[in-house]
Amino acid sequence: KKTIRLDKMLGHLGYGTRSGVKALVRQGAVTVNGERAKDSGLQIDPERDEVLLDGERVQYREHIYVMLHKPAGYVSATEDNRDRTVLELLDDEANAFAPFPVGRLDKDTEGLLLLTNDGKLAHELLSPRKHVPKTYRALVAGEIAVGEEDVREFAAGVRLDDGYVTLPAQLVTLAVAEGRQESAQPEMREAMARVASVPALRGAELAAAAAMTLSWIELTIREGKYHQVKRMFEAVGKEVLYLRRVSMGPLPLDADLAPGEWRELTEAEVASLR
Ligand code: URA
Repeated sequence: KKTIRLDKMLGHLGYGTRSGVKALVRQGAVTVNGERAKDSGLQIDPERDEVLLDGERVQYREHIYVMLHKPAGYVSATEDNRDRTVLELLDDEANAFAPFPVGRLDKDTEGLLLLTNDGKLAHELLSPRKHVPKTYRALVAGEIAVGEEDVREFAAGVRLDDGYVTLPAQLVTLAVAEGRQESAQPEMREAMARVASVPALRGAELAAAAAMTLSWIELTIREGKYHQVKRMFEAVGKEVLYLRRVSMGPLPLDADLAPGEWRELTEAEVASLR
């Protein structure tokens, strides 16, 4: 039987520091199985004991699973000396669980990032043996549009700058626009506007790209080498100007989440990842 100290349980759930939680108990705000708790060191069995704080049921759980729509400008780390981290986008309650990002998106990459404190699930999702598919959409600049030849090369495996040959990847061109043109495809237009308006993305040379052909593509890969998508396009003479992850395994990025917004996964979503 797994038990946990009452103060630890409440602290873990974000109800305050150890001393803050002790004060709540002292004030009589906490009941356990209908009785006012007097000792914040009481051992609780989260499966069986009913804990109420100010009359509200406190549901203990060990893990948190967050889907974040990562915006550009944040690094996928728990700590950084220079840059803001994705944890700064969560709130204190979520951060009380000490979540960490499941894998990494580049600072300038947007889209689906999972965060959890479930090391086992994170490990499984990242295991190179599992080949969990990750799908990206990207704005790619080149002399010519992303086409059949790129599709064939990506399907066969692309040799990167360090000699590594990628696993087969599925590439689809969704829309094409000459650099100076407005794209007719709403999502592509939105991505172009984002590159132009988000400071953290503006490094991408949309101006230089104005002389080039822009392709809005979707790419599914089953591994996660450093800068993999960007390096795959470099290998075929093209440049990724904007990158967004749209799904990981069975989980699509929730269209209701704007960049910077997050929500917890539902139980069904967590189950789908196992
Ligand atoms: N590939 C990249 O190049 N960057 C990312 O952030 C993710 C995949």
